[in-house]
Amino acid sequence: MLAASKVKIEAGRLLINGQWTEGSKTFDTMNPATGEVLTQVAEASAADVDRAVQAARRAFEDGSGPWRKLSASERGRLIWRLADLVEKNIEELAELETLDNGKPIFESRYVDMPMVIDVLRYYAGLATKIHGETVNTSEAAFTYTLREPVGVVGLIVPWNFPLLLASWKIGPALACGNTIVLKPAEQTPLTTLKLGELAIEAGFPAGVINIVTGGPETGKAIVAHPGIDKIAFTGSTTVGKEIMRGAADTLKRVTLELGGKSPNIVFSDADVDNAVKGAINGIFYGKGEVCNAGSRLFLERKLKDEFTEKLVARASKMKPADPLDPKTKLGAIVSQEQMQTVLSYIDAGKKDGAKLVAGGNRVSVDGSKGFFIEPTIFGDVQNDMKIAREEIFGPVLSVLSFDDVDEVIEQANNNPYGLAAAVWTRDVKKAHSVSRRLKAGTVWINTYGLMDAALPFGGYKSSGFGRELGAHAIEHYTELKTVWLNML
Ligand code: NAD
Repeated sequence: MLAASKVKIEAGRLLINGQWTEGSKTFDTMNPATGEVLTQVAEASAADVDRAVQAARRAFEDGSGPWRKLSASERGRLIWRLADLVEKNIEELAELETLDNGKPIFESRYVDMPMVIDVLRYYAGLATKIHGETVNTSEAAFTYTLREPVGVVGLIVPWNFPLLLASWKIGPALACGNTIVLKPAEQTPLTTLKLGELAIEAGFPAGVINIVTGGPETGKAIVAHPGIDKIAFTGSTTVGKEIMRGAADTLKRVTLELGGKSPNIVFSDADVDNAVKGAINGIFYGKGEVCNAGSRLFLERKLKDEFTEKLVARASKMKPADPLDPKTKLGAIVSQEQMQTVLSYIDAGKKDGAKLVAGGNRVSVDGSKGFFIEPTIFGDVQNDMKIAREEIFGPVLSVLSFDDVDEVIEQANNNPYGLAAAVWTRDVKKAHSVSRRLKAGTVWINTYGLMDAALPFGGYKSSGFGRELGAHAIEHYTELKTVWLNML
């Protein structure tokens, strides 16, 4: 039997203009560990999105809205208060995230939620450090720039790190003085709704934070709405392209954090045991439902057999288990649909002639009907196979081999994505020169997957554009205005 949760889960409503309201329709959100419905959540129609946008506009409107009247320091204090409330409610938020997404409770409790708090506090502090500059052009003029909020921002978030990826957008959007219409993924709306309660408790003026739950139709209504000035989207590359097309009509600003197929490169002079741990963590953390998962492992050929043996030994000890059990390292795939997608990629790997060396099956945990898949490893993968080219977004590792630096760089870059990469070697010069040649937004050397609120994250190529986290995110949530004063 899976552990029972004590968290009380209410039906989800929409947060519009500081009030909780019903939607005209509802949808179910499921527990992927049991396959059972957790609760019903309101589905925002285009009319609901319109009400949310109008509320956000009123809260923002130049000078007259309550949000623009607050000083940067007061905005920062509110964001900080929200971070404090997340911290106070951390156990409940972590459990909700695990119930809705299927991720192990140790991840929700000790990684996702602490980072949500860090990110909110980072941007709370940054609110008072956003500034333009004076530029000395000539004696005849006084010229300076102002950094102004973009306006109403539509935030569209995926299901893999529901509250964490929401915080990456909420933090900079609010710190810069924008108001927001936030849509969590339909699979995982619960922690965002809880955050809405905490935002009210923190004292945000009505209309500053609006939450509209729903699926693609709700997302499309946000993208099409002329009252929204910018879309910050995280999700698949396919939907990212649709959003870019949809946003073109109203010329919205767009930032896109999309998929990945990140190369993890191990040279024969690496610390092998650390690299094995890094490779396992790089693909099986978060059930592999991680945009920067190290899903293509490149091993220098002379290392291949020893390394693969160690990988398989570790992977076979990693059994999918009850996500609420604190010892669990591999939870449930987010949905039945995603589980079928992952299983179909496993079939494609077998058909294309890759060698299945670990896992490969759906398994039952404690007799539940949940969506669990064993940690899966394919050896002898070629870079042009489907499992090496496409993002699987599940616990499936493709192992490839190489003979020299030029060959591995060529293969690593020969993929549409460019989100992240890693290099394992004791040779410092090689580590840096390979890092420079990889087309990826983040490169880790002798580690995998580290993140910090202060460091920018985002993609090259089909992994999107714009950067989240760090001070650079401010550029994407502000407009830059130039002011000229005639001094003659
Ligand atoms: P998805 O693209 O299917 O959905 C993401 C969000 O967009 C959801 O809220 C969904 O309801 C909404 N949506 C769907 N269709 C829409 C449309 N036509 N118009 C507007 N909104 C729409 O992605 P997903 O399956 O939820 O998430 C997985 C994907 O997210 C993976 O590709 C993963 O790599 C990517 N991801 C990227 C990053 C990053 O930082 N680069 C981080 C996490 C996840």
